[in-house]
Amino acid sequence: MMIDGYELNLSQEELDDIFAHKLRQIELITPEFEDYKNLPENEKKVVAHLVKAAKIMNDVSLEQDHPLNRRLKKALEKEADKSSHAAKALRLFNCFNGVAGLNGLDPEPIQIFKGVKVLTGRNFYPSDLSVEEFQTIIKKMLQEGKIDAVKNILSARTMVRRKGAELEGIDYTQYFAKEFSAIANELEVAAHYTSDEAFKDYLGWQAQALIQNNEDMDMLADKHWAVLQDSPIEFTISRENYDDEMTPTVCENPELKAMLDNFGIEVNSKDMLGVRVGIVNKKGTDLLLTFKEQMKNLAGLMPYADKYKQNITAGNDLKQTMVDVDLIALKGDYAQCRGGITTAQNLPNDDKLSIKTGGGRRNVYHRQVRMSQDKERTKKLLNALVSSNLHGYYNPEAEHIFVIGHENGHSLGPDSSYKNSLGVYKHTIEENKADVVSIAMMPQYVKAGIIDEKTLKEVYTTWIVRIFLKAKPQLIQPHRMGDLMHFNYLLEHGAISFNSENKLEINFAKLPEVMNKILAETIEVQLSKSAQKAKEFIDKYTEWKDIHAYIAKTLQEIGIKPYIEIREYF
Ligand SMILES: [Zn+2]
Repeated sequence: MMIDGYELNLSQEELDDIFAHKLRQIELITPEFEDYKNLPENEKKVVAHLVKAAKIMNDVSLEQDHPLNRRLKKALEKEADKSSHAAKALRLFNCFNGVAGLNGLDPEPIQIFKGVKVLTGRNFYPSDLSVEEFQTIIKKMLQEGKIDAVKNILSARTMVRRKGAELEGIDYTQYFAKEFSAIANELEVAAHYTSDEAFKDYLGWQAQALIQNNEDMDMLADKHWAVLQDSPIEFTISRENYDDEMTPTVCENPELKAMLDNFGIEVNSKDMLGVRVGIVNKKGTDLLLTFKEQMKNLAGLMPYADKYKQNITAGNDLKQTMVDVDLIALKGDYAQCRGGITTAQNLPNDDKLSIKTGGGRRNVYHRQVRMSQDKERTKKLLNALVSSNLHGYYNPEAEHIFVIGHENGHSLGPDSSYKNSLGVYKHTIEENKADVVSIAMMPQYVKAGIIDEKTLKEVYTTWIVRIFLKAKPQLIQPHRMGDLMHFNYLLEHGAISFNSENKLEINFAKLPEVMNKILAETIEVQLSKSAQKAKEFIDKYTEWKDIHAYIAKTLQEIGIKPYIEIREYF
């Protein structure tokens, strides 16, 4: 079937099979949710306007992600009433929040339309721009002294388009002027209604940041956002740069990299935008804060702690807020479910001006995402791949504790100047680090009396089962690459093994020592500032062995639900 000149790539039968057997649904809260019903009327109005803002931002992310997204989504919506095939294709489009995406299982992205592929530079760059041409143009522009123009092209907040034989970076506030101004209006109305002063303040700054071509405004908005600890309503504009594979290629070209360094030009991948709306859960948030109290202690225990400036030092307060949130809306980047969905997110990232100028971070945990567990599948998985003496230690709540440690782990270790030097490998190394910090430091939480010995074993076991991979990961999946790295590391150093029945055994006594070793090696890589060292480290521990193929095959037989559908009610 043709949709606006493009043929659908999946048959009705294939789409039916996806929805019947391969789809996991995340149910966000409804208007009947107790904490929502208990909100004062004015705060309910705030929520309504924030949800409107979220929906507008979704259009922005569609445009950033693929040049055909908006056009083909509209065409699918038009056909969906008349054609069940189009309706099903639209449903898959909404799972990806785009025309194509990885499902976390197949090595190549799934395409909803024949020939409509994921692009290296997404729609941040012209679709016909190759990596080679991109580098040639940048080099030429530098030779001609067009420093500011190149800065704009390599900025996190520009859409890049052709301008004659050159390229031009157009600031998001210009390219998306219509959408940003509509979002700013919604935020200003929400700010008017809310009676939470700190939140009102933030919304005002954020609205301004959306209408001014000025990175300082983002910095100020971020700083006001990052301190929100006690506000009852959650609203975030996320700006993360994992999707753009074009920009970082300039760092792989040594000659170009040297020229950029020489001119002091920073290279930042493009920010994909998203919006999250929710209500802060008090009980969950209290638990997070007990973990936070340990951060200063942990900073002192990090390997090579004296070799770099700590984010957290004994004298300073940790500039980190954290909340557990019941979710109302996930839009834009958050809704691009392409093989995974985020359970927690700590922003701003290191490349942002607010962090570089001493601002704090805010970490938000996604309750509805982590609570969507498939118990029956877990049981099958344990029976197939885990020694029976460990089954009692598998506990999804322990996974939440691991995730808290992971998120806190991002705040420990060398700063962004080290991390960014690792080029295309920085995300894999950083995600590996955060995982490794979480597990290596877990015994400290026992010492502090926050968790007990049994919970520690539950965290270990649940984490290791969690890093069983269902397919060979690629560099664009930094979390999964990290999983493969520490899995191989544990295996090679005897902390885990597989018995004669190919079932997992854990050497609990050996685990802490091995985790400290991989943590030290990871920090060494970051301190080296060498992309080559990072590559060697990753290559050494990402070998896809027989045991991985066996685990992946077994997981696939158990039945994997690689597609994710977010169900929203506001
Ligand atoms: Zn992370």
